[in-house]
Amino acid sequence: MAIHGRITVQAALMSALTILSLSAFAAAPEAVPGEYVVQLKSNYHVKRANIQSLSMALGSQIKSTIPADNIVVVKRSPVEISSVAVKTLAQNPMVEIAEPNYIYRLDKAPNAAMFDHLWGMKNVGQSDGKQTGVAGVDIGAEQAWDITTGSDDIVVAVIDTGINYNHPDLKNNVWINQAEYNGKPGVDDDGNGYVDDVYGYNFSGDKPTPDPMDGHGHGSHCSGTIGGNSPSGSGIVGVNWHVKIMAVKFLADNGAGTLEGAIQAIDYATKNHAKLMSNSWGGGGASDTLKAAIQRASDAGILFVAAAGNDSANNDSDPHYPAAYNVPNVLAVAAIDNQGQLASFSNYGKKSVHLAAPGVNIYSSVLGNGYDSWSGTSMATPHVSGVAALLASHEPNLTDLELKERLMGTVKPLASLRGKVATAGMVNAYNALTNQATPTDPEDPSKWAVKTVGTSSLHPYAKKSNAVFELSVDGAKEISVYFSKFETESGYDKVTFYDKAGNKVGEMSGVNDDTFSPNIQGDYVKVVLTSDDSVEKYGFDISKIAYR
Ligand code: CA
Repeated sequence: MAIHGRITVQAALMSALTILSLSAFAAAPEAVPGEYVVQLKSNYHVKRANIQSLSMALGSQIKSTIPADNIVVVKRSPVEISSVAVKTLAQNPMVEIAEPNYIYRLDKAPNAAMFDHLWGMKNVGQSDGKQTGVAGVDIGAEQAWDITTGSDDIVVAVIDTGINYNHPDLKNNVWINQAEYNGKPGVDDDGNGYVDDVYGYNFSGDKPTPDPMDGHGHGSHCSGTIGGNSPSGSGIVGVNWHVKIMAVKFLADNGAGTLEGAIQAIDYATKNHAKLMSNSWGGGGASDTLKAAIQRASDAGILFVAAAGNDSANNDSDPHYPAAYNVPNVLAVAAIDNQGQLASFSNYGKKSVHLAAPGVNIYSSVLGNGYDSWSGTSMATPHVSGVAALLASHEPNLTDLELKERLMGTVKPLASLRGKVATAGMVNAYNALTNQATPTDPEDPSKWAVKTVGTSSLHPYAKKSNAVFELSVDGAKEISVYFSKFETESGYDKVTFYDKAGNKVGEMSGVNDDTFSPNIQGDYVKVVLTSDDSVEKYGFDISKIAYR
């Protein structure tokens, strides 16, 4: 089986140059103007309510309902200030939760046209079209395929822009609802509440439809990484050669979707017994109704793999949803490049982001019979979903939380991820399948001896400062200073580290509480805080020096 894998990978390495279309991103939480998602208190029932009287009672036009979750989506004047509308609705005695109908977008980052390389599966040090990789920075797929290549019993819901279920590399691994496939048009043959849901469902747009065909490419790209399988061997191979991918669409062909659609999509995958959900999208604000939908999936034992986001931000202090929801089944994924560096666009967070995966210049299936190289935590996420599915095929009795624990406990450590993601490593399929625990990283300063110190900047630090702090541990061969608190104006005010010879060995900026500096060779470091002439933040407190 590994031979087929090798041939397929090499064949894919030789295929063509492709062009990428770019997607725009919005920084602030976006929402549909004038639309709100309203969950009624449990003593009121959307199902039984008369729409007209409900509309009167809420003082809003009823746009649609999600009866299973006791949710109504209402329309109000688009000129009304959103926070005022939410407050007015929340004060209504019938209302449990009122939220803007947030807009979510795919977590794909823009990049230039690239040669394709399945370096994420097997990195032999080939170029990704832009830079040469470091051999071994991959998910260990080829070794894993000697153990298993997946199973048709595992259903992965790709919650995205739909799936191009006609793509030659995808069509054999697309989930098919047999009762509907063999059933009558216009009839809910399997009685799951959805008529004609052959491949999944489409919750994008104002009227849900049964057809989740991808009109963008993003969902198909993610699906190819999870379970592409080129019958001719000339296309791509995903982490799983055998798997069933459920197409649950809520992102429209422009790559955007709403809170209303996201809730319905997650509920659909939960009701139809996906083993895990792959979520390469995010945005909006913190939503209680979305969190509740993820909690329902968690209660049903379904893993929820989610992209950390592409804002180069720390999710611990600046959360990107849904990846940052504190629900047990959420597994948040950062992106690395082919040299094992955290991608420049990738969000991180040593509490809220769990692990990393290949997410720069990832080659996969798109629209038509096509392929393309894309980047984003969107592309890292399906690598992790794929490994989770592969592991589930090998050990079908593992629960969602056991899958998460195994993936986190068997990562391959990478220096660039230290202090950036909880496990300080990237997903590895072979280690996960063989349950090889991550070795202790000798370069991890949190494992070293400690000298207690108390060194602080001014709080706040001064404008145009150039404050110098010298720290040392006599006789140490390597040291790292620990910041119990660290806050500077991101990108403008910096802390720079110099070794004994005066060489610059690292730099930090932004919010980095509870974080070690880069490792410094020798027993001495000079820490220099420089600031510009605006925005003074807290500065830092150094409480200890780790050394070895
Ligand atoms: Ca049905």
